[in-house]
Amino acid sequence: MSKVVVIGGGPSGLMATCSALNNNSQVILIEKNEKLGKKLYITGKGRCNLSNETVGEDFFKNIVSNPKFLFASLSKFSSYDTVDFFSQNGLKLKTERGNRIFPESDKASDVTKTFEKFFAKNNVDIRLNTTVLSIKTKENTVLGVETDKGYIDCDSVIVATGGISYPLTGSTGDGYKFAKNLGHTVVDPVSALVGIETKTVYPEIQGLSLKNVILRAEYQNKTIYSDLGEMLFTHFGVSGPLVLSCSSYINRLDLNSVSLFIDFKPALDRQTLDLRLIREFKENNLKTLSTVLGYLLPKSMVDPFIKTARLKGTKICAEITVEERKTIIETLKNFPLKVKALRPIEEAIVTAGGVNVKEINPKTMESKLIKGLFFAGEVIDVDALTGGFNIQIALSTGYLAGLNA
Ligand code: FAD
Repeated sequence: MSKVVVIGGGPSGLMATCSALNNNSQVILIEKNEKLGKKLYITGKGRCNLSNETVGEDFFKNIVSNPKFLFASLSKFSSYDTVDFFSQNGLKLKTERGNRIFPESDKASDVTKTFEKFFAKNNVDIRLNTTVLSIKTKENTVLGVETDKGYIDCDSVIVATGGISYPLTGSTGDGYKFAKNLGHTVVDPVSALVGIETKTVYPEIQGLSLKNVILRAEYQNKTIYSDLGEMLFTHFGVSGPLVLSCSSYINRLDLNSVSLFIDFKPALDRQTLDLRLIREFKENNLKTLSTVLGYLLPKSMVDPFIKTARLKGTKICAEITVEERKTIIETLKNFPLKVKALRPIEEAIVTAGGVNVKEINPKTMESKLIKGLFFAGEVIDVDALTGGFNIQIALSTGYLAGLNA
């Protein structure tokens, strides 16, 4: 019977433990926290969006870094397998808007409890409050792990230590150190799915949420991100679903050259918008521009809009020139925001970067450099958009690593 040590009790390590057990291995699960799945508890605002029912190519479109590397693991253990696994182990799941899968109970803690029940049934050796310090090898083969509570010998080690975002949950980048010490390269970890700081911050619109707008990111005159949805103005700049997704596409660029644009009226082309303005200005010819813009935009947005478009809000509509109307249309379709920085990695939902996928066998998750060394989850250089894709990746890569360890 082979002896497997799993480092990390997040979704990837939990699933790796299950599949290694099913493969008749003796498994030791090591977690430095006082409990398993500390990050899992806060996922999906405490409800844990653990997978997504989207299938095929559309699923892979949601993976930002190295989707091809994940073909094998996601086909071996797909979102269907996730639903099967949890229902077989007594946790009912449900699907919501955007194909997002949640526990029917709306409790993230139930996901961890399901694993815990499975482990109790199978007498898994779980070592909480134990930190792995290093992985020992000889002639490029795993020998064991050094922990703060002593040495454990084993045949295989699964590194499921997560990334470096939300470090208070235990994800402090230890896996990157282990990988580097054993000769692996680690792609520089950066924030992904995170808020964006903008050069101009408008205090009057902090907390304002925009629905059904298009957010577009431009880099060197090319559109590198564009999507329709919701976003939010904050004390540092912008956040919300569109902004989080956008951050994952700009996180490796020179941010001084990135501009964001909001289209407040995605359903109206410029010509239709012009006709609408002409009508509004005619019907309200004695009212001020500010008042009439308040019919087209959220009220608190009017002042920032006027400042940005460099117009005079007190001007009455009868006096608005054709040029000024053009400026209004351009600003409604392309409201500019200059990017200053991404929020720090501590606030990022996921870490982009990690152990180089070229050095991992995608069919087994085994290191191509060290025999018996496996990687699973966010420690690998993969990341996806919101919607349950990141946890599914953790479960799929964890499943494959456990099966082959
Ligand atoms: P982690 O969950 O980070 O687990 C790694 C574990 O390893 C930790 O428990 C850590 O303590 C342990 N560890 C680390 N080093 C050592 C060591 N040296 N010795 C022992 N143990 C160690 N994704 C989704 O798909 N859906 C969501 O709804 C969602 N919501 C999120 C909400 C928030 C606020 C955050 C921060 C993330 C969210 N994510 C979500 C992302 C998702 O949580 C992660 O992608 C996922 O947890 C990664 O799983 P993992 O097992 O690879 O790593």
